[in-house]
Amino acid sequence: MESEGREALARWEAERPENFYEAAPNLGRVLRAHLDGDVVAALEPRLRAFGAAVAQVVEPAAQTQEREGHGPRLVPADWLGREANEIEFHPARATAGRAVWEAGLFGAPAFEQAALMYLLAHAGEAGHACPFACTAGLVRALREHGSPDLQARFLPPLLVTDYEQAERGSQFLTEVQGGSDVGENATEAVPDDLEPGAWRLHGEKWFCSVADADQFVVTARPEGAPAGTDGLACFLVPRRVDGHSNGFRIRRLKDKLGTRALATAEIEFEGAIAHPIGELDDGFKIAAGVVLNTSRWLNACGSAGLMRRAYLEAAGFARHRTAFGQPIADFPLVRENLAIIKAEEHAALASTMALTGLVDALDRGSADDETVSLHRLLVNTNKYVTSIVATHVVHRAIEVLGGNGTIEDFSPLPRLYRDAIVFESWEGTHNVLVEQVRRDSARFDLLPLVLADLRGRLTALTPTDEVATVSAALDGLQPRLEWGLAEPLHFRRQLGELHRAAQATFLLAEADGDAESEKAEVAAFFIRRRLRRDYDPEADGGYASLIDRVLAGDVPAPVER
Ligand SMILES: Cc1cc2nc3c(=O)[nH]c(=O)nc-3n(C[C@H](O)[C@H](O)[C@H](O)COP(=O)(O)OP(=O)(O)OC[C@H]3O[C@@H](n4cnc5c(N)ncnc54)[C@H](O)[C@@H]3O)c2cc1C
Repeated sequence: MESEGREALARWEAERPENFYEAAPNLGRVLRAHLDGDVVAALEPRLRAFGAAVAQVVEPAAQTQEREGHGPRLVPADWLGREANEIEFHPARATAGRAVWEAGLFGAPAFEQAALMYLLAHAGEAGHACPFACTAGLVRALREHGSPDLQARFLPPLLVTDYEQAERGSQFLTEVQGGSDVGENATEAVPDDLEPGAWRLHGEKWFCSVADADQFVVTARPEGAPAGTDGLACFLVPRRVDGHSNGFRIRRLKDKLGTRALATAEIEFEGAIAHPIGELDDGFKIAAGVVLNTSRWLNACGSAGLMRRAYLEAAGFARHRTAFGQPIADFPLVRENLAIIKAEEHAALASTMALTGLVDALDRGSADDETVSLHRLLVNTNKYVTSIVATHVVHRAIEVLGGNGTIEDFSPLPRLYRDAIVFESWEGTHNVLVEQVRRDSARFDLLPLVLADLRGRLTALTPTDEVATVSAALDGLQPRLEWGLAEPLHFRRQLGELHRAAQATFLLAEADGDAESEKAEVAAFFIRRRLRRDYDPEADGGYASLIDRVLAGDVPAPVER
């Protein structure tokens, strides 16, 4: 006979979702806000199948890979002592990889890719989120800038859906000196003596994730090119040439806080054959504007997915765990915490799917100048805000689970927490993204355009107190942002506030016309806490009941209050 405490936890375990798509009804609602109903209906069977695969195949495989001694291992040489540069993984990685690649990640249009990454990240990075993002970026770079010959040689194997046959991409920009300052890259490219148009790379890359990839995207400076980012070209470096390792050496794999199933290496190039993607002079534009921007967008899809999983874990646990004679879900502070997690996740998905609409227009070649400018700002602010919030949200979920939240095999939360922290530094740290937006805003006059876009969206909505609050927030922000353009110390905070106003606008648009909906309650809660500078929950008699309405579908209010 088990104790009641154990039985309650066993009930929680039995109730854990077996399909993350079915457990995320909001995803379908958000997709319907952006796409025609019949498009979403056609997409749903694939998302449902993937939601089941992530819960039933990828998640257990991610747990297995996380165990002590199950991480990637460098195999520097083969049995004869010949340089091998291969990486060995636990078999669980391929088990998960087959389920992920089967979904047809790279033939899919932007909204489907976004939804797949969101669902995949329910299992954290899991060894495959980074390869997904890097390969998606390489596919876009080849499609948009690759010569017909390069496309013919390298694109088809990236699109294969059989995990064992498919080739994967990676992106190596960061070097030991400079770090974020990619303009300091010292890796050099010299023309190859034998193959016309090909180059040879010499130099070292300091952070190389998906070190097992078949095709590396590498920034390097052609001999004689100017200093800074202007002199960088973007190369495709095949892992093997004629079946042999292509002139590179893996110095070591890094031992990391998170994303531990992923092989991240230090790699030295010693004459590797490299093929330019696009014109040499456009290298940084392609590496940052196409490859990194794809990763920034998919990073945000992943952050939203991490948050959703954190909410599922915390809400489920709170319904079953009893303390001081009642379910902990009845305690007002637990309820407030859950409502914050839920609202943040909805806000992250709202801004990320709004961004996905811009990515979709760019992919289809139908983007006008305004779309290009909005994307330029939103892709950076959205990655900055969603990645930082994901860490806070997973931390909050760990709090709901109490001490159990810190135990490795009790829930995925410790793993998700470590992964979320790594997501924060990928594709640009917060400061670096904010600085990029500050520079772009000054150069392309982005802020008036973004503010006008948000105001236009708000004006099109049914007028409500929430709409008025967000409009007032934008009015207050405008002069501060203009001032902040010359004040790096303050611009990060102001940009964060602008992004919160953007998220509120997107949430209100999703809820428009249905004031009674869960989305409208979530938007109201988010706006009160994040947008009203003078908001005081103590003076708000409706605060507790608003929390109840936010949670109504998942965590019922206590019977007696
Ligand atoms: C696990 C992992 C895997 C990675 N994989 C890859 C990969 O595959 N390919 C790749 O190219 N890179 C990869 N990276 C590198 C990642 O993109 C960098 O860590 C990131 O770009 C920051 O560079 P850095 O770590 O050198 O930090 P630094 O550039 O040294 O920055 C240190 C601090 O200074 C701040 N800072 C820097 N410049 C400014 C500024 N102008 N204003 C204000 N503050 C500033 C930063 O915000 C940060 O807080 C990986 C990183 C990690 C952790």
